Amino acid sequence: MIYRYQEWADGVHNYDDHIILSLHFCLYIRASLQTHTTAGRVFEAMELSLGVKLPPHSRILQGYMHFEALTDHQYIYSCVKCGSNPAIVVMDLHKKGVFSLPVSEIPDPSDYTGIVDMEEFWTSLSSEIISDGLMETFNQETKPFVVQPDYNKWSPWIGPQTRKSNLVYNTEWEKVHKKLTSSEKVNVEIPEDRLLEQVMAMKVEEVKKLCKSCGMDSSGSKMDLILQLRTEIKNRSSYDKVFAKVWGASGGWATIMCPCGIVYSLKFNLRAESPRDYMDMLMSWQHIPNIVIYDFARGLATHGTIRFPTALPFSPHEGRLLSPTAENIQCAKEGRLTVKLPWLIKAKETPDINGHPLTGSSEHYVLYDKLHEGNTKDDKDVLRRIELVPELAGRINSQVVEQFFSQMEKDNYFLNMMKPSTQIFLIRNIIHHRNSIVNTARMDKIKKSLDVEHVTLNKHGQAVIGKM
Ligand SMILES: [Zn+2]
Repeated sequence: MIYRYQEWADGVHNYDDHIILSLHFCLYIRASLQTHTTAGRVFEAMELSLGVKLPPHSRILQGYMHFEALTDHQYIYSCVKCGSNPAIVVMDLHKKGVFSLPVSEIPDPSDYTGIVDMEEFWTSLSSEIISDGLMETFNQETKPFVVQPDYNKWSPWIGPQTRKSNLVYNTEWEKVHKKLTSSEKVNVEIPEDRLLEQVMAMKVEEVKKLCKSCGMDSSGSKMDLILQLRTEIKNRSSYDKVFAKVWGASGGWATIMCPCGIVYSLKFNLRAESPRDYMDMLMSWQHIPNIVIYDFARGLATHGTIRFPTALPFSPHEGRLLSPTAENIQCAKEGRLTVKLPWLIKAKETPDINGHPLTGSSEHYVLYDKLHEGNTKDDKDVLRRIELVPELAGRINSQVVEQFFSQMEKDNYFLNMMKPSTQIFLIRNIIHHRNSIVNTARMDKIKKSLDVEHVTLNKHGQAVIGKM
């Protein structure tokens, strides 16, 4: 048994008996990460100003993460306005958040179930970081608690009041090993267009390099090359290859947020994005939101219907606002259609069976936000436009996700270099602090504007005035 001095009351954090950080310094690093300054730059600035050489920067950063791993964070991931189970969410992929990991290095699971233990997984990440401080006790080779990407363990994060239980879906392995039905092929396969859009934005030299590395002819104009790539990626293995080169090795982070911009769920994809990732998270929630906004709405709805034929997660009309009759489609196209969902403003007095706790409605729609409507090819998709619903007008700033991603992008230059387990630990931590800052600001604003002292959370996790 080893005892380690660790008295925060003394104002210090002991990492490994050599590196001892003051608590103030730990909080300063935390704040620097919120302002997208890498810890490395903070350390460099300290060396310059103090004229001393610090221990290896990677070790000090490990020391900071050790501090965070030992801090009792609840990682609530919930908005004080929308509550622990919001009725409206916006989902998207942060495609530039990747880790360097050849997919071939992830072993095939021997007893795949598609269910992972979230609590166990995240505790194992903390243990890996905490044990790092005891490194000298362990032999490098036999270091315990090392977490590697694994289809049976790798878990998303969903807040404790939002998830159904600690056992949640992660069916990523099926992205590769499950044969798609013909309907899924048409509607669910990830949009080659999204991949090509990304290629279009690349410089011509980069496109040439990409073609070369995929064993293709790299002569011709940029458009010739893109057309060539388009044919090539119809084949799954070429698609994976191109995807890995364009997007990086892993599949980005699938994110669910409320319209105010608080992150509720994060899934760090090992493979290229699919609607499956979002379905895994939503089906692990206690209550599926009534309105889901996603730029590949049709794919998500089809996938949900095929995968859960008895539960039908998106209904009525497969998550469209109205039945896709020729007349409805025509009216919507001409801007002559509105679909009222009054329960978004005032909950139903008599809730539906299995109604959402905030609205009382059991209806679940998957809609497109404004930015991505151009992506839709199917005529029926016109019935998935958020503008058709007057109760959503002005309430949704669906760019909130893009704004969040562009903020987080500023961190990619140091996050993407870390090994997968440490990277996702730190990202969940940075986003937790970001969520807390936004929530605290909102609570303060309520107190100030209403001139009240006490604001508490009700049973739905929403801020209410007065003591409960
Ligand atoms: Zn919110």
